[in-house]
Amino acid sequence: MLLFWHQKDLRVEENLALYEAWKIDKKILPVFILSPEEKLGAATKWWLHYSLEALAKDYAKKGAKLVIKKGDPVLILKKLLEKTKAEGIYYNQTFEKREKRVEKAFKGKVASFNGNHLVGIPHFFNKSGKPFAVFTPFYQALKKELHLPKGSPQKFGKVPPLRSDSLTLLPTKKWDTEMKKFWKPGRAGALKRIKNFHAGSYAVSREKPAVEGTSFLSPHLHFGEVSPAEVWRKIKNPSFRRQLAWREFGAAFVYHFPKTPTQNWNVKFKRFPWTLKPSQLKKWQQGKTGYPLVDASMRQLWKLGWMHNRMRMVVASFLVKDLKIHWKKGAAWFWDTLVDADLGNNTLGWQWVAGCGPDAAPFFRIFNPVLQGEKFDPEGKFVKLYCPELKNLPKKWIHKPWEAPEEVLQKAQVVLGKNYPQPMVDHKVAREEALKAYKTRVQNLR
Ligand SMILES: Cc1cc2nc3c(=O)[nH]c(=O)nc-3n(C[C@H](O)[C@H](O)[C@H](O)COP(=O)(O)OP(=O)(O)OC[C@H]3O[C@@H](n4cnc5c(N)ncnc54)[C@H](O)[C@@H]3O)c2cc1C
Repeated sequence: MLLFWHQKDLRVEENLALYEAWKIDKKILPVFILSPEEKLGAATKWWLHYSLEALAKDYAKKGAKLVIKKGDPVLILKKLLEKTKAEGIYYNQTFEKREKRVEKAFKGKVASFNGNHLVGIPHFFNKSGKPFAVFTPFYQALKKELHLPKGSPQKFGKVPPLRSDSLTLLPTKKWDTEMKKFWKPGRAGALKRIKNFHAGSYAVSREKPAVEGTSFLSPHLHFGEVSPAEVWRKIKNPSFRRQLAWREFGAAFVYHFPKTPTQNWNVKFKRFPWTLKPSQLKKWQQGKTGYPLVDASMRQLWKLGWMHNRMRMVVASFLVKDLKIHWKKGAAWFWDTLVDADLGNNTLGWQWVAGCGPDAAPFFRIFNPVLQGEKFDPEGKFVKLYCPELKNLPKKWIHKPWEAPEEVLQKAQVVLGKNYPQPMVDHKVAREEALKAYKTRVQNLR
């Protein structure tokens, strides 16, 4: 008999380490352990609850029973080994610190596999033997080293039943109504997303927040309900595959630079004069900035636990550059509210927008929320969906209601400062201030 330790691979099918274990011994005790160092946000806790439910059902169909535990993985695995007399522990690597402790504690009894990534992250370097700091060469190298394992266990052998711990993951307040309608955590939900995804039009539609132009696979990939190898095989669109590889770049970023979730990758940014304005941060969080594209996106995040990629860039740029609030504050809000909150991708995304990450957007690339809206949501459909108070505003003004003539606002029943906010900053002024701060405090720093 073997123990199978689940982390971020909540699937039975196409699970490399599980398949390898099953080939050795059909008697497997699958265990998920919620480790105390895992600081989940509210939205990922919500997802995890339903994902574990789905995983348990998938196991039951194949004759196995998932055991759920909370606590230190070394202690729990030790107890389970003693109790079951299992001969070994199998798992897929996530490169978290706890894995080193498990390897050390159960030397000779542990087998780990790269079932969560397209390349072997710890051993993947550029020609000079250093971690890649630029995405394109990373991607070129990744395509040559692709790791695309295949295979699923069939029926499991019988093992004595064990009790699970109860995890309290669901919110006490009801804020998940829309999330429940929109998502189906678990493998079946992931496969449905793949089936319904129109990959052929991805290159164009991925930029339009008003249409469902992307795959919505991010939470499924984060929790490992599908493997990236499987997604790579099933979705062949080159633009899509390139995006999928950003996930690998994110994982490599936090693996090679483990301090980056809290520290700037580019140390020059240390002197940037970030401000701490709790009331402004709150307006941004609540989608009350007065910039419709930013507000619609922040409200989408609150409702669905997800935000469109371009919109993530727009709202992040607004927070970091227009408001000059530290990117860590934005990353923390995303961490709590995103169902796909992922240390690698979130850290990379924020540092990229802030300009302090590897291969980052240059600091002077400051997203103009009006122009971005006019380009990517020209009819204002996305804004109207999440800011219904603006639904009668003609498209000419939908991204800049403060410029609309009084009679237009009246006709559309928009009263700025009352039922929709005035812009909290003047983007033009805020942009100049940010550029000045960058020039004096970062760029000219030796
Ligand atoms: C500030 C900021 C924060 C972000 N935080 C997260 C996060 O916490 N978790 C997360 O999964 N993604 C994050 N992203 C990346 C990206 O926005 C999401 O992965 C994407 O929007 C998810 O939607 P999708 O699955 O429909 O993507 P698709 O466009 O269908 O892409 C397919 C998959 O590729 C990966 N991917 C796509 N774009 C990126 C990217 N730019 N960086 C890394 N991986 C990518 C994701 O796994 C995604 O599911 C962040 C981006 C920014 C700018």
